[in-house]
Amino acid sequence: MSSRGLILAVIDGLRPDALERAVADGTAPVLARLMGEGVYVDDCVASFPSVTPVCAASITTGVGPDQHLIPSMNWYHREERRYVEYGSSFAAARKQRIARTLGDTVYAMNRDHLSPATPTIFESLDDEGLRTAGTTYLIYRGRHTHQPARHSRLARFATSTFFRESVQGPGDLFYADIFASRPMGCRSQLGMTGVRDQHSGCVGAELVATDEFDFLLLSLPDNDSHSHKHGPAAQVESVAVADRQLARLADAAGGVDQLLDRYGIIVAADHGHDHVSQRVDLLAAFSEWWVRTPRDSGIEAEEIALGLAQRSAMIYVLKSDSPTHTAERAAADALRVSGVDLAMLLGSGEARVLRLGSELRFAPGGDLLDAHGRGWSVEGDLSVLGMKTADGMIVTPDYPDALRRIWSALNCSTAGDVLLSAAPGAEFLDWGGSSHLGGGSHGSLHRVDSHGVLLWAGTGPDSRSAREEWSIRDVAGLVREHFNLDSQVPADS
Ligand SMILES: [Zn+2]
Repeated sequence: MSSRGLILAVIDGLRPDALERAVADGTAPVLARLMGEGVYVDDCVASFPSVTPVCAASITTGVGPDQHLIPSMNWYHREERRYVEYGSSFAAARKQRIARTLGDTVYAMNRDHLSPATPTIFESLDDEGLRTAGTTYLIYRGRHTHQPARHSRLARFATSTFFRESVQGPGDLFYADIFASRPMGCRSQLGMTGVRDQHSGCVGAELVATDEFDFLLLSLPDNDSHSHKHGPAAQVESVAVADRQLARLADAAGGVDQLLDRYGIIVAADHGHDHVSQRVDLLAAFSEWWVRTPRDSGIEAEEIALGLAQRSAMIYVLKSDSPTHTAERAAADALRVSGVDLAMLLGSGEARVLRLGSELRFAPGGDLLDAHGRGWSVEGDLSVLGMKTADGMIVTPDYPDALRRIWSALNCSTAGDVLLSAAPGAEFLDWGGSSHLGGGSHGSLHRVDSHGVLLWAGTGPDSRSAREEWSIRDVAGLVREHFNLDSQVPADS
């Protein structure tokens, strides 16, 4: 077992070009040091849909949505006959009832939605008796029980109204003032945008100063909010803020050298970001359909439900004499909407990927290999995914790791029957009618928001060439390997 600890810093939505510019400008000195001493991957591939809940679950478990079962940011729960909303926007949360959105995001995502069959890195390390710690991150499931915090007036207000239940988390959990396993004097204003990175930096510095962990997940989410609001080009400012939090940890250790002496460090983005120039109103486009809405009528006669999640969407077939036909009709209608790039559905054991007027079908187990050595059989119009084949290999430069990601997303039992990916620049309105027009967004299968930063120093392989293509699923493996744990990840589908 490595004698050194490990810090996993997740900088939400960090685009490689933004990191590179901040490093060139000298505004991200700690990240520059890590890049200089470690290994930098500028095209780490997100899960699909490339929205934060799906990707956070992949980072912490090492598997795709077919196994971790978090299908999107907004989805329809077939058994409970209701929408699950993890907080696309305040307006979207209001549409679903805010208390329910908070309950889904803070409690149900970890307790009920995340598959119990896929251990998180916290659980893997807790089982080995390692000291785990985490700051506010969507996925926090571990083996230790935490009661709601009562240490401040704000915490007492929150935990006496919305957040009364205990959770299972890492050994030390500091979650938006709601859970704080020890008194620290770090305030997050209940996870307000712009305060969250500072809260993580404050907690992280204290934990480093007191040598309280073997593994820390340091969550730095403000880059994503900044990019949503001001566009991906503005990330160069928010990455500097994230870097300052890493500097606080380094200062607590006595400097970057001392921090690297004590800890391996992994920096990972969960996904990228694209500039939004087009709003796509899917609900309006389906005005001829009977669509179930969040504030449902109680009639339950609707044909379909829609999961609306930034640059991705899902269509669930609810009531139909012929579900296959209804799914095909819904996919065809969706493809006629400007801004919809791809529609995907399953049929006869194959994945079908549709673009207006053309179709590609594929299934696992053929002779064509992807970058991960998986075999696929492919039929139809390869141009749907811009696919090239040469020497028995498949490449899809515009849609990274396309086949594995689509297959995993379609075979997620909680996902919709039809999955949609938006064209570059386009974003679906959420249930509150909000979008990030003029700002940034993510969620699609396209490379523009599927590529993020992955960087490690003092841990991991010596070169990025250890893998042909890196994915956020590999992060959990890097963490487990740092502590010499056997992989507990179930076999990939
Ligand atoms: Zn985001």
